[in-house]
Amino acid sequence: MISTKASSTPQAVREQLYRYAQDLQELMDQHGKLQQRYQMVLQSQGRASLSNDLLLSSIRHSDALYLITDGQGAMSYASPGTESLLGETVSALRGLSILHLTPQSQRADMTELLSQLISTQQSTTVVQRQLTLFNGAETHSTSLVDALILPTQNYDRLEIFWLLHAADDNNSDAISVQANIGLLQNSDKGLMITDIDGTIRFTNPAFTRITGYEASEVLGQNPRMLSSGRHDGAFYRLFWTELLKTGSWSGEFFNRRKNGQIYPEWKTVKVVKNAVDATVSFISVFADSSHQHTDTEQLSRLAYHDALTGLPNRRLLEDRLTQALSQMKRDGSGLSLLFIDLDRFKPINDALGHEVGDLVLQEISQRLKKSVRQGDTAARVGGDEFVILLQNTVRREDVQNIANTLLTALTEPIIAGEQKLLLGASIGCSRYPQDGDDIGVLLKNADSAMYSAKRSGGNHFCFFEPLGGHSALANLGLDLWRALERGEMHLLYQPQVTAEGQLHGCEALLRWTHPVLGEVAPLTFIPIAETNGAILPLGDWVLETACRQLREWQKTGLEHLNMSVNVSSRQLHDPGFVHRVCQILLTTGVAPNTLELELTETEVLQFKDGDQKRLQALRALGVKIAIDDFGTGYSSLSTLNNLPVDRLKIDQCFIRNLACSSNARAVSQCFVTLGQSMGLEVIAEGVETTEQLQVLSAQGCHLIQGFFTGRPMKADALLIWCQEKTTIPTP
Ligand code: C2E
Ligand code: MG
Ligand code: MG
Repeated sequence: MISTKASSTPQAVREQLYRYAQDLQELMDQHGKLQQRYQMVLQSQGRASLSNDLLLSSIRHSDALYLITDGQGAMSYASPGTESLLGETVSALRGLSILHLTPQSQRADMTELLSQLISTQQSTTVVQRQLTLFNGAETHSTSLVDALILPTQNYDRLEIFWLLHAADDNNSDAISVQANIGLLQNSDKGLMITDIDGTIRFTNPAFTRITGYEASEVLGQNPRMLSSGRHDGAFYRLFWTELLKTGSWSGEFFNRRKNGQIYPEWKTVKVVKNAVDATVSFISVFADSSHQHTDTEQLSRLAYHDALTGLPNRRLLEDRLTQALSQMKRDGSGLSLLFIDLDRFKPINDALGHEVGDLVLQEISQRLKKSVRQGDTAARVGGDEFVILLQNTVRREDVQNIANTLLTALTEPIIAGEQKLLLGASIGCSRYPQDGDDIGVLLKNADSAMYSAKRSGGNHFCFFEPLGGHSALANLGLDLWRALERGEMHLLYQPQVTAEGQLHGCEALLRWTHPVLGEVAPLTFIPIAETNGAILPLGDWVLETACRQLREWQKTGLEHLNMSVNVSSRQLHDPGFVHRVCQILLTTGVAPNTLELELTETEVLQFKDGDQKRLQALRALGVKIAIDDFGTGYSSLSTLNNLPVDRLKIDQCFIRNLACSSNARAVSQCFVTLGQSMGLEVIAEGVETTEQLQVLSAQGCHLIQGFFTGRPMKADALLIWCQEKTTIPTP
């Protein structure tokens, strides 16, 4: 703690002043080291700093010779020692102008000095003049060394503090005072002295540089005016407890500049005590530590930010999400996560190179930043994946609006060099508390909603729907395009058996295991694939896979096995279809007459010119053609006559009631007879019972497909099925 002990001689005062000067220097040095080492607490060296207040305090409690005048030089106070120096009693001096003590030759100088002191209007001004004061008899002469303008007791009123020295003095005090004042004035550390009530009494130029406040704006104010609001009550309680207990406090403070900017400062606060150990003021030495913070922030940026875009990375996002979640749970509010995946980024990156790709990502990041509100977080979590955390979002419409803004911003063309690039984005949203209350679940659900948006064809926004919801179903179309590359498709094979119980062939039936919906029935996805064109790659894959499988079976003892493959008319419309079938036959080594293509009757009725030709070409190769679901399309005899087909496949709806309905029996008999009359093979599908089998057999239908003889099964199961069914049930 600083204590200002009363000394009895001018020599003692001088020594004390020197010590204070050294102390101040020491304190400044310490402060610098503290900043360099990023230490929160400056180790107190035990000795104190010096300030004008302290200087004044020390002088007042010493035997120093001084006068106090107002701005006009009228004396209000003379210290006891001045009586002997000036040869006047204190009471005689009071009210007298200092000019009365100034020799005629120096009065002009003194007048000029006074006006200079007044005009500077600064809190602390030190002027050194070698002037002589004398009493009228000029018996005592003294050197007036320093004039200090200090806001002393009455800071609202100008008081000049005149420090006197005996003329024969060696002037060491002058040097000392000057040294101290110089340190205060020229220091790059900010200084603020407050009195016991916390009123600001003194600031130096560095204070103004750092805070932006002129001394005149802060004197008489409370330091609270600098408060940033970053520190809570507990912080201030600790601060005061330590300061009052130990006499000093060191650490980091966040304050607010005049321009509103919040900045960190490394601060040391000391308690100043008087001769009787009573606290008279507080001295605060501080330095702007924004620079160090920038370094620390730099390090933190590397760990928590994406290097390319500068956006928060997944780690920071998760941190913020954790905080936001607990905050929202406390407040009973809600938050939303938007998962964004760019559309068409990959082809752009592949075609134009990574440099352009990087530019695109940077531009997108800027747009994201601009589109979200302050306090929300836009993070990059993967190559072209971003997540936005929207705090305090309760209303669905608000989220929808933000998402719309984002979609608009992200679809604006991006100019990269001479290229104008058009991207889009698929955005999915999960919300707390509706869609989950932990980070993992919310992120997963936002991702899944984004996936739904992608399935809608991109540039779309979807809220998360539990269990895939309607949106998942509505978005099957896009999923179909990815199903093959994701290995979600496989084939099952259903045996086709002769009336004699022999395995004639099998039908390849496509199966799709959807990542969200699980097994999706062909009757659901085939029409979608036919509409959006995905049936072309799918059909191609089915044909090739089935042929490869057939060839494998044929090589392992089932030489005469046939394979029926369902073909959609969309495939047949493709002019390259015949060529493709040939290719597959050649590459797999399958004999054309062991492959049968099934086309539904409805589709056959809508044949276009080219279709018929292509069917003829395929038949010419030896490939068999079957009309699937026969009976459902109401084709006329003449149409049938003109069709290049080999087989009719009676639809299962006619088989279902065979045992109980004579009408059904009549229809099936009709179909069998019709086929035979046209020289076509007839096969019944959907045979489930022995009765149905018996009727069909009696009617002359010699080929059967249905659960009764065998369900659709995997390739390896079919082999086992073959071995076990040494005798196929016969009617
Ligand atoms: P489809 O070509 O008429 O195939 C026969 C359907 O009847 C199959 O249904 C099969 O599982 C089912 N089925 C077989 N035996 C019985 C039975 O005894 N009782 C009953 N109730 N059903 C039986 P699945 O596999 O669901 O296929 C439905 C339709 O999807 C197929 O009818 C076919 O039109 C289409 N499809 C299947 N795979 C493909 C394909 O690879 N390409 C194309 N274009 N269409 C396909
Ligand atoms: Mg079929
Ligand atoms: Mg069928």
